[in-house]
Amino acid sequence: MNSNRQVIQAPAPTTRRNSGKLMMRAAVFVEPGKIELQERPIPEVGPKDALLRVTMTTICGTDVHILKGEYPVAPGRIIGHEPVGVIEKLGSAVEGYAPGDRVIAGAITPCGQCFACLDGHSSQCGGRKMGGWRLGNTIDGCQADYVLIPDAAANLARIPEGLTDEDVLMCPDIMSTGFSGAESGNVRIGDVVAVFAQGPIGLCATVGAKLRGASLIIGVDGIPERLRLASQLGADVTINYRETDPVEAIMKLTDGRGVDVAIEALGTQVTFESALRVLRPGGTLSSLGVYSGKLSVPLDAFAAGLGDHRIVTTLCPGGKERMRRLLNVVNSGNVSLKPLVTHRFPLERLEEAYALFASQEKGVLKIAITP
Ligand SMILES: [Zn+2]
Ligand SMILES: [Zn+2]
Repeated sequence: MNSNRQVIQAPAPTTRRNSGKLMMRAAVFVEPGKIELQERPIPEVGPKDALLRVTMTTICGTDVHILKGEYPVAPGRIIGHEPVGVIEKLGSAVEGYAPGDRVIAGAITPCGQCFACLDGHSSQCGGRKMGGWRLGNTIDGCQADYVLIPDAAANLARIPEGLTDEDVLMCPDIMSTGFSGAESGNVRIGDVVAVFAQGPIGLCATVGAKLRGASLIIGVDGIPERLRLASQLGADVTINYRETDPVEAIMKLTDGRGVDVAIEALGTQVTFESALRVLRPGGTLSSLGVYSGKLSVPLDAFAAGLGDHRIVTTLCPGGKERMRRLLNVVNSGNVSLKPLVTHRFPLERLEEAYALFASQEKGVLKIAITP
């Protein structure tokens, strides 16, 4: 059958050597406007680390903020914080795992030992410096052939048998963050919830509100494909803000009462303000967006401070227990976030993938990147 076919074995990128070191390919932040694929040494494994061979990863909206220079990371940093992979090598102090295990780690990799972790705020690991978010921020990330996971014993979660990389690709960040919008907002059975923006995180917030028993979920966005997907994933009503004033429409839908929980999933003044304007007295604004510049609170929408409003913010919950729960949700078959993966690219076409993701064109939501 295949006697004429030649098997051409491309040299594995990871076997190339540079001054004695094994090299890998990695997406490196060079300067604002420039993320490029470079050759970098495969990281050395410390006692508490695990080295993963990355089998799939993806690009986050936050990476685009980094690319544009809106969120500062050090030049030379390898980007990416959504790893799916196989354990290649374990540090001497890491127990309970073996090389070859298929695992994910959260975008946030808490140490599990500091005061913030032990106080139940593991995303804020290390205190006032967003210390929990390390991958692709303060240490090298996973848009690469290999990534080092710090504090591996607190962060590696085994992928249940039968689930593909793509099945679990949303767990490290998008699903964890989106669900947390509903959890931090304390959505209760019978609540009315508005979700502002139906990008990947907003869509997961919509799913999260549904899972927590909201009886009316209103999804707001300006892109018709996203609104269609919102309906498919649990929104009862969708509003295209380009056609309809969402604040007016939501107040009408709730007979002037306002919503119990408004989830902000974009990080702009207008979405934050609209979320506040549709909130009932005593309601909760659950904010997930990453804001840049200045954010102001209009006093009329804020009832001049007398509305018993709660404004809560959440940084993606991480750590292996959070990941285990999310993997259970996927494994239960009750929720499929696979429609969020709209495009697939090999690592070598990463720069193209960034351009498509940043453009928000061609119906792009999440792009699976395969090293
Ligand atoms: Zn992210
Ligand atoms: Zn910690």
